[in-house]
Amino acid sequence: MHSAILLQGLTLMPAVNLETVAIIGGGVAAVSFACALRAGGFNGSIIAVSDEPELAYDRPPLSKTFMSEGGDAVRLDTSRATNVEWLHGVAAISIDGRQRRVHLADGRSLPYSALVLATGAKPRPLAALANVELPSFTLRTLGDARGIRARLVAGARMVVIGGGIIGLELASTASRMGVSVSVVEALPRLMNRCAGDVLASFVAAQHAQNGVELWLGKQVIGCSLQGVLLNDGTTVPADFVVVGIGVSANDGLARSAEIACDDGIFVDRYGRTTCPQVYAVGDVTRQRNPVSGHFERIETWTNAQNQAMAVARCLLDPTAAPYDEIPYYWSDQYDQRIQVLGIPQGDEELVRGNAGNNAFIVFHLLRDRLVGATCINQPKAVAPLRRLIASGKTPDRKKMIDIDLDIRKLADDDQQ
Ligand SMILES: Cc1cc2nc3c(=O)[nH]c(=O)nc-3n(C[C@H](O)[C@H](O)[C@H](O)COP(=O)(O)OP(=O)(O)OC[C@H]3O[C@@H](n4cnc5c(N)ncnc54)[C@H](O)[C@@H]3O)c2cc1C
Repeated sequence: MHSAILLQGLTLMPAVNLETVAIIGGGVAAVSFACALRAGGFNGSIIAVSDEPELAYDRPPLSKTFMSEGGDAVRLDTSRATNVEWLHGVAAISIDGRQRRVHLADGRSLPYSALVLATGAKPRPLAALANVELPSFTLRTLGDARGIRARLVAGARMVVIGGGIIGLELASTASRMGVSVSVVEALPRLMNRCAGDVLASFVAAQHAQNGVELWLGKQVIGCSLQGVLLNDGTTVPADFVVVGIGVSANDGLARSAEIACDDGIFVDRYGRTTCPQVYAVGDVTRQRNPVSGHFERIETWTNAQNQAMAVARCLLDPTAAPYDEIPYYWSDQYDQRIQVLGIPQGDEELVRGNAGNNAFIVFHLLRDRLVGATCINQPKAVAPLRRLIASGKTPDRKKMIDIDLDIRKLADDDQQ
């Protein structure tokens, strides 16, 4: 936590003399950073290095439309990042903070006046699946998605290990394609890290209604060619397995340069790491969550994009507003659009609307303070609720669940 305290203490952003910006990573954070630098008028050199052979692509469709439709619709738009040199299929392997150079696996060495680490995260492996012949996958890259997609044929049996968002989105897409899907989750409920109880129950009901078999509170202890072995002795039949038990930060490059990390690179609101002129953005960062006040990894697309853009603006203009957005993610499962703001867990949940009719909002309170909101098929409520949570105000409980009170009025009412 020492580095976290150190970073909290840094409040001013001194002007940086920018000539050459090196970006490591090729995901949404890297692309957004490059676009924002050009949009902000930077006309120096930008070089972006990705270890993936692919042109920049987006990950959210990989568990959704890409599985059902395929095609090439997942490319990220890099057109606003003009005059950027993109290097693909080569990894950055070390940073020399003194000489301000980053070394690549192909022997090249790039000078930088600012180095931006946007290296993302990688799936955690499941030890119980090591050395087993049953085909098993994780879902992070386009290559992973292509491998899984090739097996999504009607009648195939897929076991998803882990009841988190990515596994559940894949379960919903695959079950609609006629795949027989089972989900195994070690804890007694789904989406444990990212949803409250009401959403978890709602999602479980959606999957059950769509024929997905849920094995909750069961551990996977092994695997055979027949399927997945659970700790209660059950074998869940499978033709292939997809493991979705979370990700860990790609922070090895930073750690080997002695930049403060703890499953994620510590950054302040300007994206600064503990090494001068080295910044980090996106899934790889461990940043202060403005709602909880804790240093956390915020693994969402919107964070990766908006944090990168804010850090780029601050790099060009020290008076620009530092990054301070409340966390937000969306998830699409079956026909349900789920949108979650702030901290979706607390010690109390208030439901506005009827959880049974697929259009409702859940308010999350912690020690009587509003800390988050979950919207099910309520997209227009998201912007006002974002303002409300960011304001730190907690409206009267009766007002929050009053469906006759417009949500914009609830959010903007100064009388709270
Ligand atoms: C299947 C799937 C579905 C998702 N759906 C949603 C959703 O619905 N809603 C939502 O909010 N979020 C979703 N997410 C999360 C979202 O996609 C991520 O938060 C976002 O992609 C993070 O972007 P990033 O640029 O920080 O990291 P990444 O996208 O992980 O990009 C990092 C890149 O850096 C490369 N790299 C790593 N180390 C090096 C190195 N040393 N040298 C060179 N390159 C390196 C990596 O290979 C990778 O290409 C989903 C993620 C997945 C996988």
